[in-house]
Amino acid sequence: MRHLFFRKLLFIVTTFCAVCFTEAQNPIKTLIVTGQNNHNWEVSSVALKQILENSGLFQVEVAVSPEKGTDMSGYVPDFKAYKLVVLDYNGDAWPEETKADFVNYVKNGGGVVVYHAANNAFPDWEEYNEICALGGWEGRNEMSGPYAYWMGGKLMKDNSPGIGGSHGKQHLFNLTGRSENHPIIRGLPNRWLHVYDELYDRMRGPANIKEVIYTAYSDTDTGGSGREEPLIFTVEYGKGRVFHTMLGHAGESLKENMAMQCTGFQVTLLRGAEWAATGKVTQKVPKDFPSATDMSMRSDYKAPADVQYW
Ligand code: ZN
Repeated sequence: MRHLFFRKLLFIVTTFCAVCFTEAQNPIKTLIVTGQNNHNWEVSSVALKQILENSGLFQVEVAVSPEKGTDMSGYVPDFKAYKLVVLDYNGDAWPEETKADFVNYVKNGGGVVVYHAANNAFPDWEEYNEICALGGWEGRNEMSGPYAYWMGGKLMKDNSPGIGGSHGKQHLFNLTGRSENHPIIRGLPNRWLHVYDELYDRMRGPANIKEVIYTAYSDTDTGGSGREEPLIFTVEYGKGRVFHTMLGHAGESLKENMAMQCTGFQVTLLRGAEWAATGKVTQKVPKDFPSATDMSMRSDYKAPADVQYW
């Protein structure tokens, strides 16, 4: 009897340690690309790093570029050394070598997260715009590609002339799921309330969206487009897996950073990041995820210690 008890105990302990060991052994090697942005990248890059590392799934390094207007020639991150590259950069052109390395990284199957204003960057770099699928501002117009919006259960494209990229005033809004079976959304609520954030609208680009995950209605009452805008989606580009989230406008500080503190932002980012790196999502759905009527915040960028899962 006692023998059996110890055998069981030993089995439990070794199994548990094997799980810990595996996770500690194989965190997803991740690089955040940042250092110039029309946003507060000192806040966004740290918040992104904390969100990713606090999940226990990612090991994150940060490639900070030289300051805007200075010599960029030494900015040559080794993208291929990582399973995942998170784009938090909107600034001066990268050296040709860096541009070519990045395109090859994605073409050859690299994982990418396009985060918020990263889709403003490099309006004239064709491959970059294909990797993002949609972008905004920086002189974008009908030459950049069509508008893309959701109507009648599918993605519509509109080539009419006009600006690329705008947003109304920051407000609370609902995200609506548009994909039933993608690993990123599987198990998540189909509607959830996002805290105060910019709702990017009228974005333009090659619009090579692979799967629309979530859209939001951009109400003209808040200065929006009157269209259902694709805000979270995947992109078709080479063998790469690209996850694009337009959410998460950076605040003044890690404390005053509501959009990035939203549990919905953090959990969709983590799921999209894992999918981009591995093609799978192993994360369970946490019970503190927002509902259609109740928002939820993780102000310290991690799941609460007592979080439960569905
Ligand atoms: Zn913003």
